[in-house]
Amino acid sequence: MVKPDDYEKMLDEAYSLLPDKVKETVRFEIPKFEVFFQGNQTIIVNFMEVCKYIRRDPKVILKYLTKELAAPANVAGDRLIIKGKVRPDKINKKLETFVKTYVICKECGKPDTELITIEGVLYVRCSACGARYPVPPIA
Ligand SMILES: [Zn+2]
Repeated sequence: MVKPDDYEKMLDEAYSLLPDKVKETVRFEIPKFEVFFQGNQTIIVNFMEVCKYIRRDPKVILKYLTKELAAPANVAGDRLIIKGKVRPDKINKKLETFVKTYVICKECGKPDTELITIEGVLYVRCSACGARYPVPPIA
């Protein structure tokens, strides 16, 4: 069982081993979910891809979306399946808010951040400029 703190540390270490060229983010853009309906479900095709791109734990994004959209959802392979029909523009608006709140550093505007929890408070920590500030809890 890896403790969350250890996991953060492992990520940090793995990240610090990357050559600078890889770390340099190629112009970050807020990603968009590709969404389609299947029966009474809403499928996000590129869910995992987006999670990887914004470097956030899929579990955290799942939590955020289910809360914000007030609809149950589950991950299936690379996809996210939401129960009920949710308009794609609504989902992407939530994703945009998530990225602006929890990914892009409000000090320097770079996406080279991570989420950390200190004494029950969630923070964004930026590895580009060193900023650290609290953000609203997710779920
Ligand atoms: Zn920053």
